[in-house]
Amino acid sequence: MILMSQMKFATAIDCIDGRTQLPVIAYLKAKCKVDCVDMVTEAGPVKILANCEDHVLLDSIKRRVEISIRKHRSKCIAVVGHFDCAGNPVSKETQIDQILMSIKIVRSWNFKANVLGLWLTRTGQLSKQKKNRERARCQQRIWSAYTSSRF
Ligand SMILES: [Zn+2]
Repeated sequence: MILMSQMKFATAIDCIDGRTQLPVIAYLKAKCKVDCVDMVTEAGPVKILANCEDHVLLDSIKRRVEISIRKHRSKCIAVVGHFDCAGNPVSKETQIDQILMSIKIVRSWNFKANVLGLWLTRTGQLSKQKKNRERARCQQRIWSAYTSSRF
C-alpha cells in the first residue's frame, strides 16, 4: 500500500447506493486531480444535510468528513444526489434544492476545502470488459452543477 502522505484525497458525501460510488470516484479523481476519494455514505445524504433535523447523523457525517480533511488533507468535498434514490425518493428538482442547501451546510463547517454538488442522472453497472468505456459514459452522466468559484 502506498503511504497516505504520498497521495492526494478528495471527499465525497455520497449515498449508500452502490450504483453511485464508482462514477463519483472516477469523476472526482479527474476533476480534483486526486488519487483517492474518501467516501462518507448515508442513504440519501442530501436530504439529511438539507433537512438539518437528525443531528446525530449530521454530527456523524461531519466527524467523518473532518477526518478526511485533517488526516488526508482533502481539499475538495462533494455532496451527491442521484436519480432513483431509495433513501430520498423525491423529484430531481427537490434534490437539486437539497444539493444547494447541502453545499451551504457543508461550507458552514468552515473546512479549508472547496465544496461542490453533484447530480448523478443515471448509472450503469461497470462490466470488466467495457470498464473504460463505461467509466467514460458514467462520467458524462454526472454534471457538477454547482461548484464553488475556485473550481
Ligand atoms: Zn440514494
